[in-house]
Amino acid sequence: MIKIGVLGLQGAVREHVHSIRESGAEAIVVKDKDQLAEIDGLILPGGESTTMRKLIDKYNFMESLKEFARSGKPMFGTCAGLILLAKNIIGYEHPHIGVMDVKVERNSFGRQKDSFEADIPIAGIADDFQAVFIRAPHIVQAGENVEILAKHNEKIVAAREGNILGCSFHPELTDDHRITAYFVNMAKEAKGN
Ligand code: GLN
Repeated sequence: MIKIGVLGLQGAVREHVHSIRESGAEAIVVKDKDQLAEIDGLILPGGESTTMRKLIDKYNFMESLKEFARSGKPMFGTCAGLILLAKNIIGYEHPHIGVMDVKVERNSFGRQKDSFEADIPIAGIADDFQAVFIRAPHIVQAGENVEILAKHNEKIVAAREGNILGCSFHPELTDDHRITAYFVNMAKEAKGN
């Protein structure tokens, strides 16, 4: 069975575990970098990117996460997780993991709309996905190898670059597991079965 890890340092971990199981894969909460060797794909959950970054450093995860992405195993960043994956973050000199060729802006949907839901089409995944946005970032600019999967109000909110998938919203917070299932499938394909 395909094993999908969820980085378990902070954030919406349990909901992702549920969604992975509903998608027919085994879920592993990753709290130690040695666990990365056991999994076929890794989800970086939503939460608070600055806090998550501190914990990544504290538990000495950074090099192993970069290595994981370089190895070609799929990584999926949701919300804060997308910020961790981006090569550029507006207002920051340096990225965090920095493996996806996108520029992101944090908290970019305005204060009055800190949280909202929108039904959006996601290319190749869903015609109508109920996307839950919570103090969400968006992709301001995407490199030429980045495939744009979804936009909301002209802003890019889901994209894929090879083995890296990212979205602004929280796909684990509804009963619709199509994005998680898509990611499980990416891990299956990368594994070659
Ligand atoms: N605003 C958070 C950040 O910048 C992300 C919010 C989320 O993951 N729901 O890290």
